[in-house]
Amino acid sequence: MIKSLHKRESALANSKRQLEILSNGIFQYGDLPTFKNKIAETGQFPLKAKKLEILQINVGYMCNQVCAHCHVDAGPDRKEIMSKETMEQCLEVIKNTEAHTLDLTGGAPEMNPNFRWFVEEAAKVGIKDFIVRSNLTIIKANKKYHDLPEFFKKYNIHVVSSMPHWTRGKTDKQRGEGVFNTSIEALKMLNSVGYGMPNSPLRLDLVYNPSGAFLPGNQASMEMDFKKALKEDFDIQFHNLFAITNLPISRFLDYLIASENYEDYMYELVEAYNPAAVENVMCTNTLSVSWDGYLYDCDFNQMLELPINGKTKHISEYNETLLEGRDIVISQHCYGCTAGAGSSCQGTVA
Ligand code: SF4
Ligand code: SF4
Repeated sequence: MIKSLHKRESALANSKRQLEILSNGIFQYGDLPTFKNKIAETGQFPLKAKKLEILQINVGYMCNQVCAHCHVDAGPDRKEIMSKETMEQCLEVIKNTEAHTLDLTGGAPEMNPNFRWFVEEAAKVGIKDFIVRSNLTIIKANKKYHDLPEFFKKYNIHVVSSMPHWTRGKTDKQRGEGVFNTSIEALKMLNSVGYGMPNSPLRLDLVYNPSGAFLPGNQASMEMDFKKALKEDFDIQFHNLFAITNLPISRFLDYLIASENYEDYMYELVEAYNPAAVENVMCTNTLSVSWDGYLYDCDFNQMLELPINGKTKHISEYNETLLEGRDIVISQHCYGCTAGAGSSCQGTVA
């Protein structure tokens, strides 16, 4: 198992170093336009937050996996976990927000010792779409997680899970040896309680992200390929596939630099820039809360430690009205959200 950038004490574990790389070189000398200048060409700068629709809460960076391209730099060695006190502050906001979607992420959110309590409390509020981003293997990682499918079902959780490919080789290469087989077993467990079945209200969606320095293909045709292969090979069903572009931050940035693909990848992202995708990038209707309660425009900005541009900085001083209309904090990593059909936690946006 590889180690997180933090554990390896890599220079890239420092978000400032990542931001320097994203601002220097090809962007500093004008070979490529900065994201700010690019969106200004079509009158889309500054990027403004609209009405909040999705509240995304990161309950900790601890994970049972150490995927090669993880933008969180998550792993078993990460100890940042949301406290019960911060969860209580989040619950106050969940009760009062007009957002229709609550999205719990990590790391592996299930590894937070207060995860189940938090889900039970948050579910009482009755938010329309309650998402948990589960990496699948956690369900099989330890006996205490084996009942997660039943637990998710009890609270009508919408499960969203990464599955980079329908073949063992490509999945294990990105997510670690043995991840494919364990993910298949976990998907079968989810299917067996009703998740992902046609017409079932128990939503099971999968997330695809490319295994190298290239952009995802067409989301709809990939969904068909995934559905066909998983049904034929394993009798597994799911609802939708979200195709996500890897953003050049954290472990994917480390991979791009180590494989000498960084500049080519940035050229590819800029060439695929789609102004129509800018309108719907997820930061315009989403707010991200970190494990220690700070507010960010998105999970990527959270990992780059780019705090929100607003009067309220922490969940304890949350004010939805003050956050609406704020200027979104951007940098060159944002090109990952606007390439081709665009990319967000919910897949393509344009
Ligand atoms: S499962 Fe998710 S959070 Fe965990 S290392 Fe992989 S990509 Fe990161
Ligand atoms: S990286 Fe975050 S801030 Fe930048 S465009 Fe994407 S969602 Fe918005």
